[in-house]
Amino acid sequence: MEITEKIREVASLVEIASQYTTLKKRGRKWVGLCPFHTEKTPSFTVDEEKQLYHCFGCGAGGDIFTLVMEKENLNFPEALRYLAEKYHIPMPSKLDAAPGEVKLEEKLFKINEMTLNFFRNNLYHSQEGLKALNYLKKRGISQETVNELKLGYALNLWKSLVDFLQSKAVSASFMEKTGLALPTKKGEYYDRFRGRIIFPISSLSGKVVGFGGRTLFDAEPKYLNSPETPLYSKGRILYGLNMTKNAVRDQGFMILVEGYMDFTALYRAGIKNVAASLGTALTSYQVGLAARFAPRLVLNYDPDPAGLAAAARAIPVCLEKGLNVTVVTLPESADPDEFIKKHGPDKYRAQIKKAWPGLKFYVDSLTAQTDMSIPEEKSRVVQTLVDTLKSIPDPVARNEYLKEAAQYLKTGEDIIRQLIETARKPLARRAEAAIPFCPAEKRLFQIMIQDRSLAAGLAESLESEIFSGLKSEPAFRTIIQSVRDEKDWDLLQLKNALSPEIFSQLTQILLEKSEPGTLEEGRECLCEIRKIFLHKKLKEIQIDIVQSEKQNDRERLLALLYEKQSITKQILSLNGEIQAQSRTLPSS
Ligand SMILES: [Zn+2]
Repeated sequence: MEITEKIREVASLVEIASQYTTLKKRGRKWVGLCPFHTEKTPSFTVDEEKQLYHCFGCGAGGDIFTLVMEKENLNFPEALRYLAEKYHIPMPSKLDAAPGEVKLEEKLFKINEMTLNFFRNNLYHSQEGLKALNYLKKRGISQETVNELKLGYALNLWKSLVDFLQSKAVSASFMEKTGLALPTKKGEYYDRFRGRIIFPISSLSGKVVGFGGRTLFDAEPKYLNSPETPLYSKGRILYGLNMTKNAVRDQGFMILVEGYMDFTALYRAGIKNVAASLGTALTSYQVGLAARFAPRLVLNYDPDPAGLAAAARAIPVCLEKGLNVTVVTLPESADPDEFIKKHGPDKYRAQIKKAWPGLKFYVDSLTAQTDMSIPEEKSRVVQTLVDTLKSIPDPVARNEYLKEAAQYLKTGEDIIRQLIETARKPLARRAEAAIPFCPAEKRLFQIMIQDRSLAAGLAESLESEIFSGLKSEPAFRTIIQSVRDEKDWDLLQLKNALSPEIFSQLTQILLEKSEPGTLEEGRECLCEIRKIFLHKKLKEIQIDIVQSEKQNDRERLLALLYEKQSITKQILSLNGEIQAQSRTLPSS
């Protein structure tokens, strides 16, 4: 049995959801205050039997896996591990969806590991490496820190790593997949990292996912990172967090810097609750990662315009994740590395205490380039701020920020409050709005999701064309494709394929009371959907017919009339088919 099935079998959605809200039994379902938005009357509903949840207020919905992923900020394999641990289900050693992918990942991890050893060896056992060590020493990075961070060195040669990996029987295509080698036009391969001090980039569990390199030869760019690979995605990593997560937890806040040199400077100075974003745009995934270890984030980016702009952009991302955020701007426009070298860790800690409240920094950056004496300009700034404020999950915090914002902007609190209320309402209304699915679409979806053997039977002879234009089209396409490929599919796949609104409506449909379906009923739904499709086609043809009459295009007119007749026949025969099938339905 698949691990996902095992988990579905023993895990209780009610139990897991109860970690985030208090649920009360109401009829067949459980209801409580929604853990995804703030509300006074419960609209979060859990159906234990179907193992699904849906919020009628904000539209959040899904199953046990999506709930854990969203509330714990985990990716799918991490959510599996989390649930498996909780319910004492032994995890298979190989994880992740496709076995092919697992093999690939394992192989890439192995190559990265070999490469790291190679780079570390270079640092100590080559002329160039000694130069690199010297450079690190000059920058105040001790031998101990070099070891702890597992720094290495990439020789300033075209093929030293490629040759080494070849000697270990690693194929060129795998080298390319790790991002360590680049192909020439002639199809040969050469090293991506040359003449650089190497910083291994690790996952939270300490596995090497990629590398960063700082040039020792004034080459451009000064800092070079691994490209996006199956293991490394820059928006999903906080550099160094694997080593500093406990310090972050103990201190209750994380200092976030831009690059690994700043990280290293703070780390070796004994300030260990630090991580680096390794890119200028902080993603909400990274913020979620930080939030797993501490409720506060201190941004200390470079003081140049790019760094300040990046800090300002990061603030709404933090606030919307419920994280308290402040911004440090060091005196004399110093970056963290320079400052700590000059003034030491105690002075640095004092600067952290003097950090700007995040909201104030954000408002200042918004107003800096705006003429606030022009009412319309000011209104734009207020609106931008309202967009952030309305998304702050905690109502008390939201209210406090609202008051602050009103002060900073010299505008009435009640106006901002009113704007937030109206901005929040449509979200709730949207979820409650009339469902844009037709009854057949809705019922077919229930049948196919609830009974996978029926889904297989129905998808066999199905052209996904008939769903074209329907709201449910991407959902059915995903299901049909998975059935055809004989792959297991789950709500998560659907979630990825659909817009949040549609996915929300589908989870709502699944929660509605419904009898188990039958193959006949499924076919009947398909007939109805096909009829809708044909009627739509008929309408289009009718328009074309009028057109060709106007243009006196007899040949085209004839073809169209013929098609119209054929479609009308199809519709008539479908009507007959539905009647015939209704007769064969069991009377229950
Ligand atoms: Zn909700």
